[in-house]
Amino acid sequence: MTLAESPRAMPTPGLVRNDWTREEVRALFALPFPELVFEAARVHRLHFDPTEVQVSTLLSIKTGGCPEDCAYCPQSAQYDTGVTAEKLMNLDAVLAEARAARAGGASRFCMGAAWREPKDRDLDAVCAMVAGVRALGLETCATLGMLTAAQAGRLKAAGLDYYNHNLDTSPEYYGAIITTRTYRDRLDTLDAVRDAGIHVCCGGIVGMGEGAEDRAGLIATLACLPVHPESVPINMLVQVAGTPLANGATLDALDFVRTIAVARICMPKSVVRLSAGREDMSEETQALCFLAGANSIFYGPKLLTTPNPGRDRDMALMDKLGLRPMR
Ligand code: SF4
Repeated sequence: MTLAESPRAMPTPGLVRNDWTREEVRALFALPFPELVFEAARVHRLHFDPTEVQVSTLLSIKTGGCPEDCAYCPQSAQYDTGVTAEKLMNLDAVLAEARAARAGGASRFCMGAAWREPKDRDLDAVCAMVAGVRALGLETCATLGMLTAAQAGRLKAAGLDYYNHNLDTSPEYYGAIITTRTYRDRLDTLDAVRDAGIHVCCGGIVGMGEGAEDRAGLIATLACLPVHPESVPINMLVQVAGTPLANGATLDALDFVRTIAVARICMPKSVVRLSAGREDMSEETQALCFLAGANSIFYGPKLLTTPNPGRDRDMALMDKLGLRPMR
């Protein structure tokens, strides 16, 4: 079916809606690839300059030893992946990394800690990091696990601009990936973050053995949140030896591009981030993702503990495509 024959799939291009049905999202995924990418590119231009890419840097401020059992994660203490548990970094070391990220062109600095949830004394230290990074003129983002409303309020007061907490996958497939916290727990943290006045960064991971219906379910759930996340990271699973997902079938690159395109159409004003998995992605696939509405990347040689293209490689690709960092 073409887009013209499927009016339900695209009622008003670029309109922000929070009532997407699973059927509508499924219909978008089922469009012929050129129709889908064309529509996503069209929606992208309604709200963004398609030549601009928001550049974020992600630093692991507390690596490994996490008690959760996320099946994709090398930082879970439940899997033998060679990642060793480290202590929380100190403030000066974090600020040195933030200065380097700023010098490298990043506009947002994300700090990730492998916790189920932060303890109050840890939050004191993270709040100092947030305030320090913000004083450098960077946007701040943190991903620290589950948050209470009071903890979200403290981070907001310290100057936190964004909080990342992913839904990971569809509600139906979620139990196959994580058993130590529920989908509802995740939604509650997102509510606490939103209520505190912090921008939400929330997306998922594909290539975890989920079906097409689960990819539709993930995007439909994100697009039906009361307010769309300001940032929507779409990650391609990085298979890490020792995790339960180390040896699964890989996702076809074009299905990844489809997921980006549908996210762009359903959340037209959100920044859609082409996130983990770029290290093994061809330049052509990344170019298709930008064409399909991705307008953010993580920059720097590492994403927490997994490899990411180096800055030079990313700059060369952006030059080749005529893209520039969003300021
Ligand atoms: S994804 Fe986060 S919560 Fe899950 S195991 Fe890894 S560090 Fe822990």
